[in-house]
Amino acid sequence: MSMHLEQSAVTVLGLGPMGRALAGAFLEAGLRTTVWNRTPGRDRDLLARGASSARSAEEAVAASPLTVICVVNYDAADAVLRRDAVAGALKGRTVVNLSADTPERARGLADWAAGHGIRYLDGAIMTPTPTIGTPSAVFLHAGPEDLYEEHRPVLEALGGTHTHLGEEIGRAAAYDIALLDIFWTAMAGYAHALAMARAEGITARELAPFAQGIGEILPPIFEQSAEETDRGSFPGDGNPLTSAVSSMAHIVHTSEAHGIDAGVMRAAEGMARRAIGRGHGADGFLRVAELLGRR
Ligand code: NDP
Repeated sequence: MSMHLEQSAVTVLGLGPMGRALAGAFLEAGLRTTVWNRTPGRDRDLLARGASSARSAEEAVAASPLTVICVVNYDAADAVLRRDAVAGALKGRTVVNLSADTPERARGLADWAAGHGIRYLDGAIMTPTPTIGTPSAVFLHAGPEDLYEEHRPVLEALGGTHTHLGEEIGRAAAYDIALLDIFWTAMAGYAHALAMARAEGITARELAPFAQGIGEILPPIFEQSAEETDRGSFPGDGNPLTSAVSSMAHIVHTSEAHGIDAGVMRAAEGMARRAIGRGHGADGFLRVAELLGRR
């Protein structure tokens, strides 16, 4: 640990599973860590590990030059931060907001912070709680570069990789939204696949090794299609939409034959059929991205 970190103090507001993981990582790195949560009692383990407890959010933010807030969303962040006592205590200090919400909400909170003399960085955490404090954690940050550089050593105490995406304050939330779109639609597909497999007498355990194989197909697609997508090119040499849509129809048919809602798959099939209807049948499935983006 560097002398710089040893002397640093940080406050964590919000002690849900993620807030507790963040505070735990700061403590592990030797930082003086003050914690506060709306509902009392969530700080017991952290206090036993050396954290300081604050009786109020304003007392907590006054204890450190840097406050990290991690609550369920920006309604909750607003409820904690946008009070006169807290805003007053934060004046001249820095807030890093690692709660998840929309880019628009990030811009709104940044405007409010600027109006109150509060220095503000917005961030997103892209990995689950067990990764925090380990090399696997992934943090995205947005906001003034000099402010980010000033607090980077403390933020890096959280482990993992930290990427500053630019000064536009909504950028971390914009990446977060796009990345969580991939995650939740994939999870919706997986949940539907489990229901359908079960109806065919296949357990999740039996499916798992093959499901992993399907998951492994995706990373090379993300990497290899990126430049083509940015150029507006969607080659369908290996798997044109006309072929893909047939496989989707089989899934819808089997699902509905079992009385299982096929809404997720029907949405994907519908997008593919619209692309074909517009004359893109020879293209690959990612043509759908370009069609969705048309105004
Ligand atoms: P939650 O998303 O459930 O957030 C719980 C925290 O939000 C608690 O501290 C809770 O306080 C607080 N909270 C909720 N409503 C309010 C309110 N109105 N006023 C004040 N505080 C409020 O759990 P996590 O800790 O897991 O997540 C925190 C953030 O981290 C979320 O934005 C989440 O998307 C993000 N994240 C979480 C990951 C994870 O693996 N858990 C992974 C990546 C990102 P109280 O205890 O008083 O209810």
